[in-house]
Amino acid sequence: MAILGCHICLQGRVQGVGFRPFVWHLAREAQLKGHVRNDGTGVQVEAWGTKDALDSFLAKLVENPPPLANIAQVTWKDLAGDAPTQAFFIAHSDHGPVRAEIAPDAATCPACLTDICDPANRRYRYPFTNCTHCGPRLSIITGIPYDRAQTAMRKFTMCDACQREYSDPSDRRFHAQPNACPACGPQLWLEDEHGPIACADPVSEAAHKLRQGQIIAIKGIGGFHLACDATDAAVVQRLRDTKNRIAKPFAIMAKDLAQIREFCQLSDAEADLLTAPAAPIVLCLKSDQGLPECIAPGLDRIGVMLPHAPLHHLLLAELDGPLIMTSGNPANSPQITQNGAARSALTGIADGWLMHDRDIVNRLDDSLIRADDEAPSILRRGRGMAPAPIHLHPDFATTPPTLAMGAELKATFCLLNNGQAVLSQHIGDLKTAKTYADYRAKIDLFRDLYGMDPAIIAVDLHQDYLSTRWGARLAKETGAKLVPVQHHHAHMASCLAAHHIAPDEALCVGVILDGTGLGTDGTIWGGEFLLGDYRGFERKAHFQPVALAGGEQAVREPWRNLVAQLTAAFGEGWERYIAQTPLSQRLAAKPTALISQMIAQGLNAPPTSSAGRLFDAVAAALGIAFDQQHYDGQAAMELEAMIRTHPNCTGYCADVSDQGVLSWRPLWLELLLDIKNGVAHDKIAARFHIGLADTLAETAVRIASDAQTTRIVLSGGVMQNRYLVSRMVQTLRAQGFHVMAPKTVPANDGGLSLGQAAIAAFQP
Ligand code: ZN
Ligand code: ZN
Ligand code: FE
Repeated sequence: MAILGCHICLQGRVQGVGFRPFVWHLAREAQLKGHVRNDGTGVQVEAWGTKDALDSFLAKLVENPPPLANIAQVTWKDLAGDAPTQAFFIAHSDHGPVRAEIAPDAATCPACLTDICDPANRRYRYPFTNCTHCGPRLSIITGIPYDRAQTAMRKFTMCDACQREYSDPSDRRFHAQPNACPACGPQLWLEDEHGPIACADPVSEAAHKLRQGQIIAIKGIGGFHLACDATDAAVVQRLRDTKNRIAKPFAIMAKDLAQIREFCQLSDAEADLLTAPAAPIVLCLKSDQGLPECIAPGLDRIGVMLPHAPLHHLLLAELDGPLIMTSGNPANSPQITQNGAARSALTGIADGWLMHDRDIVNRLDDSLIRADDEAPSILRRGRGMAPAPIHLHPDFATTPPTLAMGAELKATFCLLNNGQAVLSQHIGDLKTAKTYADYRAKIDLFRDLYGMDPAIIAVDLHQDYLSTRWGARLAKETGAKLVPVQHHHAHMASCLAAHHIAPDEALCVGVILDGTGLGTDGTIWGGEFLLGDYRGFERKAHFQPVALAGGEQAVREPWRNLVAQLTAAFGEGWERYIAQTPLSQRLAAKPTALISQMIAQGLNAPPTSSAGRLFDAVAAALGIAFDQQHYDGQAAMELEAMIRTHPNCTGYCADVSDQGVLSWRPLWLELLLDIKNGVAHDKIAARFHIGLADTLAETAVRIASDAQTTRIVLSGGVMQNRYLVSRMVQTLRAQGFHVMAPKTVPANDGGLSLGQAAIAAFQP
């Protein structure tokens, strides 16, 4: 039989995931000659063998790659000449320009779990066990190329046994950069406020303290968590009090799916998300006999995750029930990553600290995801997901290298280069000094990791966003072109880009609902119908502008929006319309005269078409978060959660003017009548959602038909509302429209930078 030669190039996430040993195994199995090596673009293979052997080798290569690999592209060509005589081998890496992917952190694999549970294994109960199929990645990386010297593992020298594994292509730990064992790797200890606690086993001791109702700070993969017994309402409440986290839901970590099923209804899709290597927090429906209400007050879903590091597995195995695992930080600060900061900032909150000496280089908050009708929706991209690239339409391959700076509150940034977009992990609220510093440092790190020199820097239109200011400064320093992008246009483009839409086919109607964003007319927008594509847009319709009475304060205090909405609907005599309702009494306790005056005189009451504020007002009318909301989206989330059934009821009406202004007087008339008639609040919540969804759909259809497009995009933070989106999708699909909602990137401001990049990249 003739011996043929073949060169194969594999691109995507193929480095640092055990790809070369996998190729080596397959090649040896098929008795091929040749070699495999890494270079800047991916993995290069030269293989020689019979045609049958090569064919089956190639098929196996792409069919069943290592668990963390993600092959984006395979190209091959024939090789001329003679086959080499030596056995197939792994050749040294050749580091060219970096285009290979950096892998996200991955939850402990089954083989490593077996190792730590086996008393005969040298890694028995070792909390930092990992291999090429699992373990820390982005969280420990300081530079490229990805090898041990450029990670937080550089200070640990491998012992002989670890080194042997690391150098042996047949071993699961071949070139596993974080490889370690009890003899040579990171160590774990437990502290209290007096310092380290002498104990034989810090994990058992921590479990003991947790059972006693203590709060323990635990250093994880991407940062510290605060943990306590989730079944103990008293300690959960104590954690709320000391952390000053009044209502925002806590996440739960449970030891396995069976334990989660004790307090959640779990679908197959949710089980798959939970057990994936990303191990995100999954929002699941609470069961009736569940955990204390104070874990996720007022909500029908609860965030749950499985152990994602050996430390968690060991700890959960010693406990009888689930743990609260909430980010370890005082209120309004980013998750803590360093031991010293954990000691100082969490004193008074934590009773103990379970710490180790492997540094966290990149803070990664837990990712948050929800299983929806067709595909899961990512609500926050962090640990386990970032920095996996977002694959775009091939037309993006030739756009200039672009850095997009994101928004301000749920900040992320995005590098768009060589046809792929790398979206940073969720970084958070830039108004917090530490978060802003972290954001700037991460931009530097990512530019370095991806060897990216931006030709364009995209920012929000809002000049006061800290992200905009930093972008302007970077543009000055680097000479890159600064491109301001309208906020809701970016929300629309983010969804288009994530759905691989080509620039020439992107004309769509964007129904963009969110809190606030600066419009091109200088006013605050937030309930928008845009017609356009990456290159531009027209504002075709919008919610009626209603006063934001007290500016920022109106965002925190929903009752203010109720007054503003009622004023917009009924004018100065609005109080007559709420007579004989409980609202009349509740509002009597508020300075409504002052608010009315502010609105009438336009003092600190800028008009906004915000959709978020309409939800706040309706929630307040039902007594939800009436005085105050304690976290972004609380009122809207509790309002949606209130819909218990899917009654066959009719929705409330809206007025849509010829100029495309949607106003809510009819809605308020019906809603107040329902309140007067004692209609159940869950039905009122349903009628509001149904009416809104149908009005939005009708308006979108009218604009789309006029413009002769069938594409409709639903984006913006309010579009994380599952009920609203699912009804709109159903209605619009039934009429033949191609409806897109963000799935792989957050619909809220966490996905904004992707849209900014896509728009800026196609600016003339
Ligand atoms: Zn493993
Ligand atoms: Zn070792
Ligand atoms: Fe937004």
